[in-house]
Amino acid sequence: MTKPKKSFLNGGPRNLLVGTLVLLGFIFVLHTLTDRNRTIQPITYSQFLNLIEKDEVKRVHVSGQEVHGILKNNSRFETTIANKSADWQLLREHGVEFSIDNPNGAFNIWYLLPLLSLFITAWALWYFIRQSRGSGGGGGGNNIFTMGKSRARLFMPSSINVKFDDVAGVMEAKEELKDVVDYLKNPEKYQRLGAKIPRGVLLVGSPGNGKTMLARAVAGEANCPFFSVSGSDFIEVFVGVGAARVRDLFQQARKNAPCIIFIDEIDAVGRQRGSGLGGGHDEREQTLNQMLAEMDGFQTTGGSVIVLAATNRPDVLDSALLRPGRFDRRVDVPYPDLKSRDQILQVHAKAVKMDPEVDLQKVARGTPGFSGADLANLINEAAIIASKEDKESIGIDDLEEARDKILLGKEVKSIILTDEDRKVTSFHESGHALIRLMMPEDSDPLHKVTIIPRGRALGVTHAMPEREKYTRTKEEMVANIMSALGGRAAEELVFNKATTGAYSDFQAASSIVRDMVCNYGMGSDLGQVIYAQGQGDYVYSQKTAERIDAEVQRIMDECYANTMQLLKDNRDKLDLLAETLLDKETMYAEEIYELLGIEPRVQHRFS
Ligand code: ADP
Ligand code: ZN
Repeated sequence: MTKPKKSFLNGGPRNLLVGTLVLLGFIFVLHTLTDRNRTIQPITYSQFLNLIEKDEVKRVHVSGQEVHGILKNNSRFETTIANKSADWQLLREHGVEFSIDNPNGAFNIWYLLPLLSLFITAWALWYFIRQSRGSGGGGGGNNIFTMGKSRARLFMPSSINVKFDDVAGVMEAKEELKDVVDYLKNPEKYQRLGAKIPRGVLLVGSPGNGKTMLARAVAGEANCPFFSVSGSDFIEVFVGVGAARVRDLFQQARKNAPCIIFIDEIDAVGRQRGSGLGGGHDEREQTLNQMLAEMDGFQTTGGSVIVLAATNRPDVLDSALLRPGRFDRRVDVPYPDLKSRDQILQVHAKAVKMDPEVDLQKVARGTPGFSGADLANLINEAAIIASKEDKESIGIDDLEEARDKILLGKEVKSIILTDEDRKVTSFHESGHALIRLMMPEDSDPLHKVTIIPRGRALGVTHAMPEREKYTRTKEEMVANIMSALGGRAAEELVFNKATTGAYSDFQAASSIVRDMVCNYGMGSDLGQVIYAQGQGDYVYSQKTAERIDAEVQRIMDECYANTMQLLKDNRDKLDLLAETLLDKETMYAEEIYELLGIEPRVQHRFS
């Protein structure tokens, strides 16, 4: 058995350190040994001439304008001569031995030694810092040697285990990205006919809906390297650093082509130039300009580099980024709809032990507005809850609890409410629930009501949409407003007082009313005009604002009065529900239908 030989250079940092130190020591010793300056007496030129006159000089060596010499008493001296040619005669007359070298300058290899050792030290230092940061690239840290390096993380194809099949839903996005995969795999196919290969694709959507996953899947499908970086990684206080990082990133990418660069949160660098208030935006603009330049500089031949960038704010991006040849393709990655939620749940359920009885489609129905990440989290939370209770598998109850936990924060068992508080809460929630039950057929049906406090809410009433809704009728909006007001109305009716608990209900109700009046032209007074707020597209006068406020107030008042009347007419049901809820704490819709003797409208629970 032979040990593998370690050469000096690839023997790792330790060998290199020792080697460098030895070398430095050697140089130092050599330098001091040969340091003739130690015993050398500097003298002036006139003294030198005097010494020659007095026949005291034995030998001199002239190097450029430097003169080193030995006196007859063997002491050494040095001096500088004014001009090179003058004194040979004198030297000869007094029998001084002399020699001359390098007549063109004062070059002396030994003078370079300190400089050389300094250089080697600096190089060694730099080398170690680089070594100790690992060759996996990137990482954080602000080190002057790595400041201009891109912080992108590089994943080689073997480490990318995401395929399109792993990304559930988002059919349209996948369809569009399949093109990109094909370009990466067969660039010649497209170049043959002169087609322009896309350079940049913008993935637009809220966080957690799978933009990163999709980008990885593109690399996974095309079997090419994947650089991952966040827009904010380019931002530094030092001007020029961001641009250097961009340059470095694209340089690395070109070396690895064909490959994918994924820039998350591109809006961090890609905001409209010159949009900052005041100064201090030079750095970001320089970074953005560099990115534009790099994208323009891509070669159309050879391996391609395709940049995928993610953002939730395409509206703030500099329009130059969206021009042809840059991010000219846009792929939307929306919140998952019912079917997609079902598929996402199925993907993530595969990783855990789920009770086969659980109907994930019903879970999907109960999670509108959840992102893909929320759904992944839901399954994980349910798994944790089930594990804590030593269950064999994850059941529907665990999923229910996980959902409430995610929606409303963790259940607060430690809050001890007074009996009075609980009673008020019970009537408040019953008010919401009862109004919800009595709303027209096509509005969202009641799902469950609870007076167990969670997060900041003392109780909660859930409605569950029967299907994905893209449009809402005026009746549905009114139903939502009245359900929201039901809590406060019940309190007022039963206890003749208002509590602060209704604050968020009022907020919810008035935002729906405002929508109706301003965006949907449903206000009776203001007509079919859109009065949008916020975007600055529609500016309205102070007078119009007052009319809007008045109209909102009018609709709110009317809804509140109707809600109150409904509760008065059904006071017996309200009392029965509130008393029962006080006891049971949580009630599902079917229990309430049964209690109150009302026909159920739809199936309500997950199971
Ligand atoms: P984004 O980049 O849009 O913020 P990510 O791609 O990072 O979102 O998604 C976060 C996590 O959410 C993923 O790791 C995955 O577990 C889950 N997820 C999101 N969308 C999906 C999807 N369509 N299919 C499966 N899982 C998803
Ligand atoms: Zn309420």
